[in-house]
Amino acid sequence: MSKQIVVFNAGSSSLKFALYDLGGDGEEALVRGAVESVGGVSRMTVTSAGRPSTETRLEAAFSPQMALTQVFAWMSKEGLGADLVGAGHRVVHGGREFIEPVLVDASVLAKLATYNPMAPSHQPHNLAAIAAMARLYPKLPQIACFDTAFHAAKPRLASIFALPRALTEAGIQRYGFHGLSYDYIASVLPRHLGERADGRVVVAHLGHGASMCAMRGRRSVTTTMGFSALDGLMMGARSGAIDPGVLLYLLQEKGMSAAQLSTLLYEQSGLLGVSGESDDMRTLLASSSAAAENAIGLFVYRITSELGALAATLGGLDALVFTAGIGENSAEIRARVCEGARWLGAEIDSGANARGESVISASGSKVALLALHTNEEAVIATACRKMLGGEVHGAGSHR
Ligand code: ADP
Repeated sequence: MSKQIVVFNAGSSSLKFALYDLGGDGEEALVRGAVESVGGVSRMTVTSAGRPSTETRLEAAFSPQMALTQVFAWMSKEGLGADLVGAGHRVVHGGREFIEPVLVDASVLAKLATYNPMAPSHQPHNLAAIAAMARLYPKLPQIACFDTAFHAAKPRLASIFALPRALTEAGIQRYGFHGLSYDYIASVLPRHLGERADGRVVVAHLGHGASMCAMRGRRSVTTTMGFSALDGLMMGARSGAIDPGVLLYLLQEKGMSAAQLSTLLYEQSGLLGVSGESDDMRTLLASSSAAAENAIGLFVYRITSELGALAATLGGLDALVFTAGIGENSAEIRARVCEGARWLGAEIDSGANARGESVISASGSKVALLALHTNEEAVIATACRKMLGGEVHGAGSHR
């Protein structure tokens, strides 16, 4: 049996996993799956290459420990993971210190926990999975890969706020997120764009969380998320950029507590807050209500205005790439964003867009338009292969 690596992406109520051969060079996992809690019911779904997905209902309540135990029980039943040599984890925040994948020990874990307040809906869950793994397999090397890392070398002006210098020095700065996704897209861009891949590219990662990244030379030049994963675009349930005066007003005049404000901004805003119906784009696109259309309209408006700002930073635009749940799957949202990008020379091929092709620009379009599947797990697998001594030809980390 060949040596294998397991990759985890842990959230508040889900644990996604993927198993890779250490010696492989492919982006494709041997198996991938998720343990998640939907409406209080836990279930595990698994997809193996070439086989239909299976779904199993689980009796226990979701926790990282329970999810990991289930994943390993399933793998052992299937004869997988017997020669596991490491585990890779998506960790949202690496701060200023962790700008490369790192082997996690107790002191690294403690440092990473200091970033919990900057990404409260992600970081504690990412770290809980690492801690649970350490309890189950104390000797197995664990490697953390950071969403902030891809943006670490962006220019200083794209990294600081107009705040007193002492605060900047204390780490109150723009970090940026979704870096594993951007790293993957950057690594596959040449396949689709040839030499233009190194030009002025904006990638729109549009999932439950959403952000955009301006790249030149396939490196991050600036991005819409900043200190936390709240900034920038409107998201499923997060507000995105908001006048800080609103927050002061709610705190000082409306008597909101910090905890209430946090819930408002992370869980009750965005598509959910504006529509009053759902944080799920599919539900809103299927709805006939004016509030749902208003939420979709604002979502697109925010993307097109940020696109203008990012294109200005780049001094023009050679390519616009859509990715993640909404970007990969919604022809309607892509079409509406591209309509708002016509002034930049973007012209969509409606047929290619509707068919879900990778290249969706019309032949005369000045801006190449792409819709690409992202693969954050493949980037983590590549980092693990590098650190654990496998051969490395995989996705991501092209820098
Ligand atoms: P996460 O940030 O949780 O990884 P995803 O990248 O899976 O999120 O994206 C989730 C979002 O993608 C949801 O808003 C969902 O409605 C949306 N989505 C998935 N498929 C489609 C589709 N066919 N049309 C429109 N939106 C879609």
